[in-house]
Amino acid sequence: MKVAMVSEHASPLAVVGGADAGGQNVHVAALAAELVRQGHRVVVHTRRDDPGLPPRVLGGGGALVDHVDAGPPVPVPKDELRPYMDDFAAVLAQRWRRDPPDIVHAHFWMSALASVRAAQPLGIPVVVTFHALGTVKQRHQGEADTSPPDRLDVERWLLGKVDRVIATCWDEVAELDRFGPPAKGATVIPCGVDLALFRPDGPADARRAGHRVVVVGRLVERKGVADVIKALTWLPDTELLIAGGPGRDELHGDPDVLRLMAAAEGCGVSQRVRFLGRVCRSELPQLLRSADAVVNVPYYEPFGMVPLEAMACGVPPVVSAVGGLRESVVDGETGLHVPPGEPRRLADTLGALFADPALARRLGEAGARRAGAVYGWPRVAARTAAVYQQVVDEPDRARSLTGAGGR
Ligand code: UDP
Repeated sequence: MKVAMVSEHASPLAVVGGADAGGQNVHVAALAAELVRQGHRVVVHTRRDDPGLPPRVLGGGGALVDHVDAGPPVPVPKDELRPYMDDFAAVLAQRWRRDPPDIVHAHFWMSALASVRAAQPLGIPVVVTFHALGTVKQRHQGEADTSPPDRLDVERWLLGKVDRVIATCWDEVAELDRFGPPAKGATVIPCGVDLALFRPDGPADARRAGHRVVVVGRLVERKGVADVIKALTWLPDTELLIAGGPGRDELHGDPDVLRLMAAAEGCGVSQRVRFLGRVCRSELPQLLRSADAVVNVPYYEPFGMVPLEAMACGVPPVVSAVGGLRESVVDGETGLHVPPGEPRRLADTLGALFADPALARRLGEAGARRAGAVYGWPRVAARTAAVYQQVVDEPDRARSLTGAGGR
């Protein structure tokens, strides 16, 4: 199939770890590469955020990355990109009139808006992975939510327009059903993990304390990293390594890092907390393998790829029991759940895990088995391609295309 992916803010070529570059970038890059490996042709359309980028470039996995001119060619926070979506849609329409894909897979609501506008007049079907929903963000962030004011209206409109929603977990399906169910249905396909990179065997970084906790991810407030820092107060002889944020040289200018450093000072644990800055993907497995536990305790989480990466490395994830994490991490079997926002409970859970190496080993082994059985990208991409095919083959679509004289 000819697949067009649209990922307006999250380029598959970006360096991940910063405020707006994380799971979606990793997801789009890995899914596109695996679809290419399975014989599909994939173009990823993403916004140009640097004047030096070539118009089109072949990505690592063989997918073509198309840099779309929409808005200034500099980094712009994703919540400020909404005004440029008309231009984005116009460029897509121009590309697709010349060379129509069989299917468009949009990632995030703004990409879906541009995609529907460009694709539907041409009779090209659109599926969407939201990655995050405006309703959930609004509920959790309230006044602090910087999403454009029309986000919920646009998301509701999209649910009536797209040919399928690919939800990453059942929790998202329940949210969508409450919000205004997708007219043409949703299919649950989880995010994946690179099983060739994240594996239980291989080197592990050296430790400096009896126990080690690792956190990986964007350091925005909702990720709950301050709670992990606080939990250290009750965990003697334990070090905390935090990967994410800007590069190591820019750590001291980053507001999230400064906030977390102040929290560590305030709790009297700063000697035991190390900020690594963003860590490149090839170095992550050895960092994860060096941990007794990989902690991921956001206040809400649409999916959460880091716990999968931990499981694939055979290290138990300790996660907050929210969103997709409740489904990917099986409590007491492949990791442990804690309530979000409760550092004391987190400390107790980690303390119990440290005290029971047999439990840690059992969780780690079961996690690696589950990651291998369910979450490898070849399986996730094949399921995604099967949805594309179903959508393309839908009888209504075939009829309307025949009626319109085909494409
Ligand atoms: N990540 C990384 N290096 C870093 C920080 C994060 O490679 O320094 C990756 C991490 O391994 C994961 C992704 O960024 O694959 C974060 O995805 P997740 O779903 O956990 O969070 P999101 O960013 O989508 O909120």
